[in-house]
Amino acid sequence: MEITGVTTTKVSNESWGEFVEFPLLTIMNKYDEYRNVDGSNPEARRKWMGPVGDVVVEIETDTDITGVGIANWATGAIATVIDETLSKLVIGEDPLQREKLWELMYRATLPFGRKGIAIDAISAVDTALWDIAGKEANKPVYELLGGPVKDEIPCYASNLHPVDFDTLEQEALEYVEKGFDTMKMRFRHGPEAGRAGMKENEKIVATVRDAVGDDIDIAADAYMGWTVRYAKKMTKRLERYEMAWIEEPVMADNIEGYAEVREAAPMPISGGEHEFTRWGHKDLLEKEAVDILQPDVGRVGGISEMKKIADMAETYDIPVIPHAGTNPTLHLIAASTNAPMAEYFPIPEWYKEQQDGDSTYADAIFENPPSPDDGMIPLPDSPGVGAELNREALEHFALE
Ligand SMILES: [Mg+2]
Repeated sequence: MEITGVTTTKVSNESWGEFVEFPLLTIMNKYDEYRNVDGSNPEARRKWMGPVGDVVVEIETDTDITGVGIANWATGAIATVIDETLSKLVIGEDPLQREKLWELMYRATLPFGRKGIAIDAISAVDTALWDIAGKEANKPVYELLGGPVKDEIPCYASNLHPVDFDTLEQEALEYVEKGFDTMKMRFRHGPEAGRAGMKENEKIVATVRDAVGDDIDIAADAYMGWTVRYAKKMTKRLERYEMAWIEEPVMADNIEGYAEVREAAPMPISGGEHEFTRWGHKDLLEKEAVDILQPDVGRVGGISEMKKIADMAETYDIPVIPHAGTNPTLHLIAASTNAPMAEYFPIPEWYKEQQDGDSTYADAIFENPPSPDDGMIPLPDSPGVGAELNREALEHFALE
């Protein structure tokens, strides 16, 4: 088998619907123009994210098999790395030699890579190679990863943007009704909002906890919008809500800071969605920075690297709850003994009503995004990764 072509399609972040306009605390909250605490500045995130939402890579072979992979963000630079560097390395090679191709790509991009865009690009190509391998074997990818260790994949509802407190309460109840036993909300404020902001952050958690009662696990995401000092104060303040985890309290590069917050916090601390490769995640583990590791298959280096990270995390007794429950991620969770659940981004009822049922919220470019029933996603059964592109949507949202 031989790779004959590699194509990339840049897809507008419009394909994510209004998701990016929902209020939440982000790494950019420090600056007024990029802050959207209550929905009144809906353009805030689009201003710094750039126009590209996804980069779709398709790898053609000398058979009728084509592999599909995806990476996100980075305004087209990911596509450039694939088009100008990675495609030249893989065309003419055997797509089933994934370990060799991964290393070729990693070594060739190292002078400008290691973290960020180059690894995003490798992630998309690697995932497409796994898709080819699964299709060639006529098996879902988890069968190639050692076989499933679970019959279905538990997932948690990840949304609960603080649009307003009544909506937050209703949305939390909606997820309980739909059978989710874990859910994650977003904070509004970082240190720039002072004590009043701390109070309001606490009100978000209190609202959700009061709505769902004691039997549901609740987590919250700070998207790197806090400092170490603030995170230590805020986590202490939230002790009585018995949270399942607090996510990304500080900047991804501040690994010592993570460890300091983790040491002080009464609840588990999670992170890793903005970390890259096994080397980056090894740092998080060795420095005891997190209680839960959250690698993203589109950022860490693809399915190959995710599997290595999950296995490494197991030796530290640290569970892996990957960022974003995309189709490739599900295979990894299915085949890993220490990946208890997937992240799932539900479309809340209030948003559907706003859209008259015509929602393009996330995953619009795929025919078959993961869909849970009673908080569980069935194991994918189609060969490969099982992410079927919706050609019409892809064309509609394609850039250039
Ligand atoms: Mg997150």
